[in-house]
Amino acid sequence: MTRPAITLLPETLRNQIAAGEVVERPSSVLKELVENSLDAGAARVDVVLEGGGVTRLLVSDDGDGIPADELALAVTRHATSKLKTVADLFAVTSFGFRGEALPSIASVSHVTLTSRAREAAEAAFIEVEHGAVTAEGPAALAAGTRVEMRRLFASTPARLKFLRTEATEAKRCQEALMRMALARPDVAFSLTSGGREIFRLPGGQSLAARLGQFWPPQVLEGLAEFSREKDGMTARGLAGRPSHAQNKADRMLFYVNGRPVQDRLLMRAAREAYKGRLLSGEHPQLLLFLELPPQEVDVNVHPSKMEVRFRDEGAVFSLLRWALEPVAGSGGLAESAASYAASCADAGASPERGQAFDAPEPCRPSAGGWTSAPSRAAVEPSGFGGFGGPGGPGAWARGEKPAQLRAYEDFRSPPPEREVPLPFTPGGAQPAWSGAAASAGGSPLSAAAPRSLSREGLEYLGQVAGTYLILRQGGAASGRLIIVDQHAAHERVILEGMRRARSAGDTQPLAVPLSLSLHPAEALRLDELSEGLREVGFVLEREAGRLQVMGVPPSLPAGKAVEHLREILDEQSDGLTSLWTLLSCKSAIKAGQALAVDEALALLEAWLDAPEREHCPHGRPVVVSFAEGDLERLFKRK
Ligand code: ADP
Ligand code: MG
Repeated sequence: MTRPAITLLPETLRNQIAAGEVVERPSSVLKELVENSLDAGAARVDVVLEGGGVTRLLVSDDGDGIPADELALAVTRHATSKLKTVADLFAVTSFGFRGEALPSIASVSHVTLTSRAREAAEAAFIEVEHGAVTAEGPAALAAGTRVEMRRLFASTPARLKFLRTEATEAKRCQEALMRMALARPDVAFSLTSGGREIFRLPGGQSLAARLGQFWPPQVLEGLAEFSREKDGMTARGLAGRPSHAQNKADRMLFYVNGRPVQDRLLMRAAREAYKGRLLSGEHPQLLLFLELPPQEVDVNVHPSKMEVRFRDEGAVFSLLRWALEPVAGSGGLAESAASYAASCADAGASPERGQAFDAPEPCRPSAGGWTSAPSRAAVEPSGFGGFGGPGGPGAWARGEKPAQLRAYEDFRSPPPEREVPLPFTPGGAQPAWSGAAASAGGSPLSAAAPRSLSREGLEYLGQVAGTYLILRQGGAASGRLIIVDQHAAHERVILEGMRRARSAGDTQPLAVPLSLSLHPAEALRLDELSEGLREVGFVLEREAGRLQVMGVPPSLPAGKAVEHLREILDEQSDGLTSLWTLLSCKSAIKAGQALAVDEALALLEAWLDAPEREHCPHGRPVVVSFAEGDLERLFKRK
């Protein structure tokens, strides 16, 4: 059999192969085109999308423009005005430098590039269809450059299959433009999608003002500026105080020399700075700009240019942690911040070059300070009999940080004005949850009368500290001591109730609809969550800048429901599950609330029926149990 000879690939095919890396979806086209506009010194960039940017994506700017005789080069591979020598490659100051964006895009779509260079008498255009120039000549354009892309991937249907829905692609485009707009508050940007103006940002804004167009006011309030410089590197931006942390992970944005990046090292350094000040599942907000000499960072790691490589990772890591320390260490957990600052003084005040970047030891609040148990190893409870699962109650008993514990306690006992009425009447009436086997009457438990639960040989002994329900399993002579956190258990029960109501589509109609104003960021959030909100029972109607609330979830009083809706739209919770979690937490009985026996029994029965009963929706344990052997060890009998 004869071997095929080696041949050079045709230009169009080469461009299409390159396009595989540069042009993944409409948002990557948008990013490349807008970067070109910014490289050309534009003061204004306007973006128009149709069909999520697949049908049509248009970027126009008022930058330097391209001379007519260079238009053909602009769409030729490895042709760039931004790089001359290999030395330039290691000191890149522009977004572009590879000279492959335009030809790549033009190889998988239909591109019309129209431009007028400064001082040129007239504009010119060139049209490229799937890699082949189809027309060129003079054009009408006042100034700058206009790139219109149509029918992305029309000639490569295999690539088309990887795209998501129009709405999703449009949203990605919006996010990509937002990220670039945040780095350049001096430049005016606008985005129109499907004929609707999504945002219009004036030029010359402050960073905070620009951010205010994307993040809700409540989030902005929690932000503080930071800026620190060391060895020619600067880390500056806005960071959220730990007290304002949220369940949302997507408000940590990093930029290196003005370029949006996704970088694990920066992410780790930021998390490190907040370590011990956030609950698990909480994330800080961060808008970080790292500026360093171009030769300190390699942006030529991947054609998409989202990844970077630092020459001295240790230095970058320590700078970042040090820069964030004044914000990350302040707020609700101030005492631990003081010790943090003290222990960081050496490592932080003069971040050493080359310091190992995973050496956070000195800054960690000391573990074990909070536990008053005689010996942690000895008390560590085992699983709850048949319920015990990996990472269960034992994980809590191992609970690492005092700060974390305190924060959780605060969270579990919010100030009284935030109390939400119980979904049942304290003191006797039949609780709202299902499966209640309780008799009427709210008599306090007599010490001599343990009450049997319907299953698993469990008996309820009483309440301790107004918060914990004490159970025994297996009778008086042997068995197991079980402690249930009433708030956490109730959260789990309510969450399950809401899951069921979701399938039932229950709602509580409001006699008088409530009208709320909508911040643009909230309106976007509403688009995203409208289905989920409807499922938990909200009936909402939108009217120019306002939201009419016609119905609320059945488990909540109307006023509270609307308050929670506000919080959800302000993005203090993330997605539908968090929405349920939030609602269940708000309506659950609090720690410190006395429960009558039948209330406790009804709660326990309902809780026993709930799936995933070992953990509350936040992931905290609901139950801690001690087997006979654990007790023996505690009393040093063994
Ligand atoms: P790169 O940006 O890596 O140089 P591109 O393929 O994105 O490669 O663009 C090729 C060239 O076309 C650029 O180097 C620049 O000279 C020119 N160009 C592209 N877009 C614009 C624009 N919006 N304004 C001015 N010049 C542009
Ligand atoms: Mg470019």
